[in-house]
Amino acid sequence: MTARGGIDLGGTKIQAVVVDDDAHVLGQARHPTPQQGGPPAVANEIAETLREAATDAGVVTSELEGIGIGSPGAIDAEAGTVEHARNLPDWEAPFPLGPTLAEALSAPVYLDNDVHVAVSGEFHLGAAKESSSLLGVWWGTGVGGGIILDGKPWSGRGAAGEIGHMVVKRGGARCTCGRRGCLEAYAGRAAMEARARELVAGGHKTDLFDIMEKHDRTRLQSGIWARALDRGDQMAVKLIHRAIAALGAGIASAVNLLDVESVVIGGGLGSRLGEPYVKRIDEAMEPHLFMPDRPPGVHPAALGDLGGAIGATLLVRERKPVETAS
Ligand SMILES: [Zn+2]
Repeated sequence: MTARGGIDLGGTKIQAVVVDDDAHVLGQARHPTPQQGGPPAVANEIAETLREAATDAGVVTSELEGIGIGSPGAIDAEAGTVEHARNLPDWEAPFPLGPTLAEALSAPVYLDNDVHVAVSGEFHLGAAKESSSLLGVWWGTGVGGGIILDGKPWSGRGAAGEIGHMVVKRGGARCTCGRRGCLEAYAGRAAMEARARELVAGGHKTDLFDIMEKHDRTRLQSGIWARALDRGDQMAVKLIHRAIAALGAGIASAVNLLDVESVVIGGGLGSRLGEPYVKRIDEAMEPHLFMPDRPPGVHPAALGDLGGAIGATLLVRERKPVETAS
């Protein structure tokens, strides 16, 4: 038996898995992402989390065939560097994450974008494993995406899949990217939170921020939206409805262009809100579909919390490892 490692690096947590040849999870570990010390501290913690997952699986890291990492930010897969990593503290300049971990863990390391890795996991092992083409939409702080056509990931010149910046309303709401009318300006959690704060400043009432404080949070994370929706909070209901309408228009437009067999909805909000909300996105797409009598299958992500890390293990078989000094 050979074992592979996988890491899902996020702004709040680092999830590590060790899997067997059939991608069954043999061991796992999860640590909080260090908020101080910058990239070197994060790299240290990744190594520590993976060692723990390896111990859980009964192996040492040098026995692993390889370790795949899904990271936020701009990735240079060959050099193994990560820069402009959103949500990660003090991570703007390129940091050699791949070579650093290859040395710390004595195994080959493979690096890719976190959303692409998670979408690939759903394509090969999860909700779209019967499909030959897929659009993955990762609905969270932002709205990310990944495209797989004829079984192969399509990354364009490196930046394909940015469905969050499809224009759903010309001259519309200001997006986190600085432009106007992007899907993310309506559906991204960060944009929705900014809108909620504006409404509160304008005298509107909501329980969203009370729930946030009660749970010792400083941001409106997915669980807070879910709780507010459960209690029928009117502002939460309206903002989520607005997000779903925008997702419907954006995803349907992408489907009109690509005619993919499946759409998988994942990400923090997508996973937390789950099936009933994915069904609403499906319904919101319908009026915008050019071929409404033959819609794609629209599914929630199936691999759950470990999906990103399991998807990252697939890189070991698909890619070349990052370059190392030795
Ligand atoms: Zn944008």
